[in-house]
Amino acid sequence: MRTQRQVVDYSLRKRAVLRELLAGRVGTYDVCDASPYLKNAARFHGEATEERCPICRSENLTHVHYIYGDELKQSAGQARTLAELPVLAMTLREFQVFVVEVCLGCGWNHLVEQFLLGRDGLAGGVEDGSDQGAAGASAATAPGADPAVPRRREAQR
Ligand SMILES: [Zn+2]
Repeated sequence: MRTQRQVVDYSLRKRAVLRELLAGRVGTYDVCDASPYLKNAARFHGEATEERCPICRSENLTHVHYIYGDELKQSAGQARTLAELPVLAMTLREFQVFVVEVCLGCGWNHLVEQFLLGRDGLAGGVEDGSDQGAAGASAATAPGADPAVPRRREAQR
């Protein structure tokens, strides 16, 4: 997604957990503890992956995207489908996404990554600002345009 930024990858931590498991320092009951809420979120809002569950190896993992941020109000903390995220990213200035992998077979779950989405990523995103087009240029993306100036001052108050 174009506005994705501040990505934190948790694959190292996941590998560490799997090592602990192999070494017998933690049991499967410790790591396969997906709550009913998480499993439901995976069923109804999850994104199927091609990746096998590292624990039971009989099911593919499902990715659940949780969204957090003040602008989301009562929706904060809810799961969203992957397809809904670009729409939200164009509507909101900034929100946090947490991606959790879940196995619906054995209940394995782990944080995959987190990142920020939202229009704020476009304002400073001059690096690849090639395809932003006229639609996004009306507000914060046009620093030279006169209408943008008073709007910005208002936003600072
Ligand atoms: Zn599993």
